[in-house]
Amino acid sequence: MVGRRQSRVSRRRRRRAAWIRRLSWPAIGLMVLFTLVELTRTSPALLARPDKPVSVKPAAVVASVKPAPKPAELTVHVVDASGGQAVPLAVIGIDDRYLIADESGTVGASDLRAGVVEVAARAPGYELYSARLTLSTGSNEETVTLGATSRTAGVTATPAFLTIDDGPDPRLTPRVLEILDDAQVKATFFLIGSRARAHPELARRIYLEGHEIGNHTYSHDYDALYGGSATDYVRSLDKAGAAFKQIVGFEPELTRPPGGDSGNSRAGWRGAIQRSGYQTRLCNVSWGDGTKTTGERMLAKVGTDLDRLGPREEAVILTHDVRPSIIEALPDMIVQIRKLGYEFVVTSARR
Ligand SMILES: [Zn+2]
Repeated sequence: MVGRRQSRVSRRRRRRAAWIRRLSWPAIGLMVLFTLVELTRTSPALLARPDKPVSVKPAAVVASVKPAPKPAELTVHVVDASGGQAVPLAVIGIDDRYLIADESGTVGASDLRAGVVEVAARAPGYELYSARLTLSTGSNEETVTLGATSRTAGVTATPAFLTIDDGPDPRLTPRVLEILDDAQVKATFFLIGSRARAHPELARRIYLEGHEIGNHTYSHDYDALYGGSATDYVRSLDKAGAAFKQIVGFEPELTRPPGGDSGNSRAGWRGAIQRSGYQTRLCNVSWGDGTKTTGERMLAKVGTDLDRLGPREEAVILTHDVRPSIIEALPDMIVQIRKLGYEFVVTSARR
């Protein structure tokens, strides 16, 4: 009895196992999926995890890379208005920064920016050229034509060299330049090398506005300049010359000793200066523009000095742009000196 019952049970178990085996695994998978979908639909809270941030992946990432701006190169060809021949280029100014061109007129390419730039070029004996031109990236070429200045056309009046010593001075030199520009006077600025190095933009402005630059030593320190040897003195000139070369692109030939020339005691100095390729320019007319003088006294002093000169003798007039009296006196002084038959001139001289 018990054996028959056991036999029936085991037959039922075998049939059930066979039925289960007939069910395929994909069918089981479908059932599980259906159950999960039903659970999600009826109880979304079961799958939602509000405390976990949901990250959304974009379909595609669009990368935008800007190429680095290419520096601009500028080559300026300078030609003569009359004959068309090339003349040496002096300085080119770009924006607020001034870059010195080499002899071929090529400006250092690395730090030029594209855009509208101001260019100024000077060559000895020629009018200043300046123009605005549009610079693009890559290579740019520009031809500039310089016209000869009146000084090369010949001076009929007695020449007067207005020489202005001891600058540049940020307080006074800009105003002096404005007065000279208004009066159409070109002057020679005997600059101190250390001051030019401290205010290079002023030294460049002086030159680019058509004035000449002379070398007034690097230090203007009497003890250092005259306490040692002539070689020490020339070394100070050379140091200033190197500074001018960096600032305006050339070394001036004209030089003036601080404190003037003291006769035979500095005879050795004069020889050494000349042998080193410098030309000394002293003065024969002085404003006497010390701190306690007045504009009237200065005019009288200049008049007296000019009277002492021979007929048609050129005047070399000394004043300073480090003394405030120049601002008040300069406009009148220019008028009076012109009335006496002088024409203001400059000469270009480089080593
Ligand atoms: Zn001086």
